[in-house]
Amino acid sequence: MDDKRRATRLEDRGMMSDAGEAKTGLDVARGEAAPGPDAAAPSRKLFIQSFGCQMNVYDAQRMSDLLGAEGYEETQTPEGADVIVLNTCHIRERASEKIFSELGRLRDLKAARAREGLAPQIVVAGCVAQAEGAEIQRRQSAVDVVVGPQSYHRLPELLRRAGEGARVVEAEFPAQDKFGFLPPPPAAATRRRGVSAFLTVQEGCDKFCSFCVVPYTRGAEFSRPVAAVLDEAKALLDEGVRELTLIGQNVNAYHGEGPGGRAVSLAGLCAELARLPGLARIRYTTSHPNDMADDLIEAHATLPQLMPYLHLPVQSGSNAVLKAMNRRHTAGAYLDLVARVRARRPDLALSSDFITGFPGETEADFADTLALIEAVGFAASFSFKYSPRPGTPGAERADQIDEDVKSRRLHALQALLEEQRQSFNRSMVGRRLAVLVEKRGRHEGQAAGKTPYLQAVHFEGGAGLVGACVEVEIMAAGPNSLYGRLVAPGEVRAPERAARRGAA
Ligand code: SAM
Ligand code: SF4
Repeated sequence: MDDKRRATRLEDRGMMSDAGEAKTGLDVARGEAAPGPDAAAPSRKLFIQSFGCQMNVYDAQRMSDLLGAEGYEETQTPEGADVIVLNTCHIRERASEKIFSELGRLRDLKAARAREGLAPQIVVAGCVAQAEGAEIQRRQSAVDVVVGPQSYHRLPELLRRAGEGARVVEAEFPAQDKFGFLPPPPAAATRRRGVSAFLTVQEGCDKFCSFCVVPYTRGAEFSRPVAAVLDEAKALLDEGVRELTLIGQNVNAYHGEGPGGRAVSLAGLCAELARLPGLARIRYTTSHPNDMADDLIEAHATLPQLMPYLHLPVQSGSNAVLKAMNRRHTAGAYLDLVARVRARRPDLALSSDFITGFPGETEADFADTLALIEAVGFAASFSFKYSPRPGTPGAERADQIDEDVKSRRLHALQALLEEQRQSFNRSMVGRRLAVLVEKRGRHEGQAAGKTPYLQAVHFEGGAGLVGACVEVEIMAAGPNSLYGRLVAPGEVRAPERAARRGAA
């Protein structure tokens, strides 16, 4: 990994990490600074709130696992917690400003607990921590630790130092791979988290889209070695996980080191994972159109565990806007790619991310985006108003679009996407689909799971089905879920029965 690139910062605010004097992550991993939990000590309480993407959900789980090994027990509210972690998102301004209002509430909580003689510690982790560093403590002095996404493996040591009175900011991109310093997911936590698990296989991004902070907050592209991914996958499968979603900011750029030092593609990794007993389903997200390699397209046709669902953000349907965004693909190239993937996997469901009101976007550009949506037909999507992020090229442009224009376009785009989503869901009615049962449903005797196309399904079925892949006939499509009935093994449809009788 290129250390210089990893050390790229959103804004150089002169905030030197004090990592230099501190023990390194390696010391912590060797246990020099991390004594195990004291069996006699009462357990300390940990509250983690995660904002933003799946990657943050995964990181929050790993922080919980890490502090669990130090004797912390997770709690669902910040009130009684000894350590409160906000795992933050910097992708849009609203997401990062939300953190500061949340910190205001936590400051009051900390003051109230101080009156009882208690001293909860407040940690800001994630991408806001990376981008804002020491500025966070300047704006909110109640914060004890600021730790970026590449350094959270050092949390136990950072909390100890904060406990001794230091104001801790750790927002460097350390050269070593943090994953090597994290404990494997503990069995009990994995069982509690359910049958579908996230597994980070890739981090960071070298693409530098002109609207996006990820290359600055998560650093350069990095792929975990195949063996490390397989080990983590096996530990999850041993505790009942049936579905893995491989995650990364640019997951299809994965090129992890495999046997003999050879680079393995995402398709190769999926093939390795598919060999593991017990793994029913593989998904991956988020992909960039330019990294959609032929072997990955082929894997959608040949690997039964790989689900027919692809999140492939296009952002805009206008070539001028895509160029200004530095996406390095055109709308036509995206449509060709969709056609190639669908040719190999005709039932593939597609989803995308869209941004409205990128600087310079005209009504004609926006019409091109609507036309692309019409041409593709998406099963689901995420869409956002452009939010200028400090330090990114888009934010410097003079031709920013008015907020009301961004909003109007966003509403029009979302109306079309919603129509497509509902129509996709309705097209399932009458079909029999394989459903991975994830949990009990909301009502007594109900089970809930997901179709191959990532739709939630509710049906009558016992809790004993959790973890099973069952056949469900879809009877109705609601606004957010499908409703079905469990098909008994060997059961044939009424028309098929009639046809069989006729043939007999
Ligand atoms: N790597 C993925 C890709 O290439 O599309 C995207 C990852 S990014 C974390 C998730 C989504 O956030 C992006 O696809 C984009 O639509 C949205 N996003 C990123 N920066 C944004 C900004 N400044 N304003 C609005 N939306 C933004
Ligand atoms: Fe951000 Fe994705 Fe572009 Fe990377 S490829 S800069 S993560 S939008």
